[in-house]
Amino acid sequence: ALEAILDQAAVAIERTRLVDETAQAKAAVESERLRSALLSSISHDLRTPLASILGAVTSLRDLGGRMPQEARDDLLAAIEEETRRLSRFVSNLLDMTRLEAGALDLARDWIDMADVLRAAMRSAATAFPGRAIDVRRQPGAMLVKGNAALLEQVLFNLLDNADKYAGRGTPTVVSLTREGDRVVLAVTDEGPGIPADQLDRVFDKFHRVAHGDGRAAGTGLGLAICRGIVGALGGTIRAESPVAEGRGTRLVVTLPAGEPVIEAEAKDGDAKE
Ligand code: ADP
Repeated sequence: ALEAILDQAAVAIERTRLVDETAQAKAAVESERLRSALLSSISHDLRTPLASILGAVTSLRDLGGRMPQEARDDLLAAIEEETRRLSRFVSNLLDMTRLEAGALDLARDWIDMADVLRAAMRSAATAFPGRAIDVRRQPGAMLVKGNAALLEQVLFNLLDNADKYAGRGTPTVVSLTREGDRVVLAVTDEGPGIPADQLDRVFDKFHRVAHGDGRAAGTGLGLAICRGIVGALGGTIRAESPVAEGRGTRLVVTLPAGEPVIEAEAKDGDAKE
């Protein structure tokens, strides 16, 4: 009887091992699939603007002399835009890599989110001239512990998305409020929205929603970077449909609020800078 039990146990162990190996093999295949999908997505993101630039440069070289000034200006503008796109993509990739390697400087100071909001609005005014952004801010300081430059980048990414995906004539609202022990920053637009089943997936690297109308293609990295930064600062970021699916998007960043504590002198007597 003992032998039978041992046999059964051996069979069970063997089965578990096989299941385990199958799961591992599946995970390896999945990660390989992901890797090659990422690679082809990256090559596409690099190749498309490069092809436009090359095309424009070739036309300018071969035909530029005989072109009306306006046509030349159009080609130059296309070169500039595509070069900017490439440069944005490369910085996004770098940020992502640094974030994943834990090498992004998250130096935490007490900062007022109202200052972050003001700075991001200044950048937005330059980057998206003609887009109306309505700011609703509770009075008073909104202190969080974080890195001002990175939080500015988070807010700028959200405003950039609102600008890219929602038409220029539609309103964008930025709100900054304090809710209990949290500071809440939200950007709401009235663009095409994000389907309910993708509200969380948009934070995955390279995930893009097919909006179906060829809206300005991005890199699919912006929100992944936002989630990485906000998460590293102890906060959360989520996407919502403010009214109904297909009618606008709201991105909500929540950070732990704090009151600055007067740091006690370092215990060993070293005056801390
Ligand atoms: P991208 O560079 O493609 O904009 P993001 O990571 O910032 O990358 O966003 C991921 C995807 O989420 C976008 O490709 C877009 O489909 C969708 N998305 C993000 N923000 C908005 C928005 N405000 N309105 C509609 N769709 C959005």
